[in-house]
Amino acid sequence: MIGTLGSVKHHLLAIGSAKVTGISPPLSPASHAGPGLGIGSSVFFSDGISRVRLIMDESSPVLILNAASSAVLTFESPEGPVSVAGFVEDVGCHCPKQAYLTINEGCIFSCRYCNVPTLDKHIKTPDEVESLISDAVKRDRIECISLTSGVIGTDLEEEDRLFAILERVRRFGLPVGVSVYPTPGLAKKLYDYGVVEVKFNLETAADELFAEMCPGLNRSKIVDSLRESVRVFGKNHVYSNIILGLGESEAEMRVCITQCLEDGIIPVIRPLTPSAGLAHFRSPSADEIFRVSAFLRSELRRFGFEPSNLTMCEKCAGCDLAPMTDIREEVRGK
Ligand code: SF4
Repeated sequence: MIGTLGSVKHHLLAIGSAKVTGISPPLSPASHAGPGLGIGSSVFFSDGISRVRLIMDESSPVLILNAASSAVLTFESPEGPVSVAGFVEDVGCHCPKQAYLTINEGCIFSCRYCNVPTLDKHIKTPDEVESLISDAVKRDRIECISLTSGVIGTDLEEEDRLFAILERVRRFGLPVGVSVYPTPGLAKKLYDYGVVEVKFNLETAADELFAEMCPGLNRSKIVDSLRESVRVFGKNHVYSNIILGLGESEAEMRVCITQCLEDGIIPVIRPLTPSAGLAHFRSPSADEIFRVSAFLRSELRRFGFEPSNLTMCEKCAGCDLAPMTDIREEVRGK
């Protein structure tokens, strides 16, 4: 079967990896953000509409044959052999078209699914961030700057560090999105500084699961910050990653999606990449990924959302089945 990437992406996300032959894909020297952190190098494959990020693995059942300006992705899906024509993308910092940077590598918290706390702690200076963005601009056509961070210092220290970097990146004149562990009042300060979007991650679909997965962090504080962000940034500019596969039921995931949208928050449903303390977990199945994304699509339409997609994961969508671009034509409108 010759397919579009969107129509088979749920299978690829469930597999999570690819073996690349032919020309070696471009690697970002600054790939220090996202769920693949500490897991291995990634390749970004696109068919011009959809994009998928896969961890490079010689033993993967997914094969990408990469030529000078095109590539073919092949694998065996449950419906038979699949072939997708496309290309391997250049990477700015971390992902295509973006300078997506982690300010604090390292974290004082220990969320069970996350590799960041195991890394040697390093805090990027404004000079370092500026230099990485300048290099990314030379490598790729950067369209935005996205900033994330582990938590290393006090609330005040973290804010000072973030705003020093925001001040420095102004000179690039690009849209800036911010995804950090929020402090009260942060949304308004970010908005006043010209930040266009925020993503504060709820991580789990249910409160009890959060307490188990993210000890020491406060989910209701994140909910408050998200609601405050919607008041400040408006609908379509406030996002939250929710991890699929942490042990929530599908009913809990659906309730969480609807609750987020009622509050004006767009959930980004992220299939679990088992690692760190959850290395023994299984990735969600292709069917689970598809069903939840199709539900999100129908709810986005029901609540009249049009995600702005200017920065961060919502723009990239390499790790998620993006409901508005990836879902197959035949289920659109459901
Ligand atoms: S979807 Fe988000 S975490 Fe995944 S590669 Fe893109 S920017 Fe990184």
